[in-house]
Amino acid sequence: MWKTNTPLSAGFCFVWYVVCMKKLTCKDLGGSCNHEITGESFEEIGEKSKAHVMEQVTHGDEGHIAAVEQMKNANSEQRQSMMEEFKRRYEEAPEV
Ligand SMILES: [Zn+2]
Repeated sequence: MWKTNTPLSAGFCFVWYVVCMKKLTCKDLGGSCNHEITGESFEEIGEKSKAHVMEQVTHGDEGHIAAVEQMKNANSEQRQSMMEEFKRRYEEAPEV
């Protein structure tokens, strides 16, 4: 797999950027709504989804609070398989 942070020509990076923007929903990443999250890497989408969930939790949204609780209560094995599932969804997500 190519790495986005590999120093390459700007032209190539631009192409990569366009090709690799992906779109997932909050639900795809363990959340509870259809909020769309786009990013050019799994890490970026992960960060954005975390920020979105935390914001909703701050607003007292029960669905997101439950999602966070579920994450907190999961053991490391379950978390691992959740991450793998999210990653798989990311791989399968449509490019935007
Ligand atoms: Zn959400």
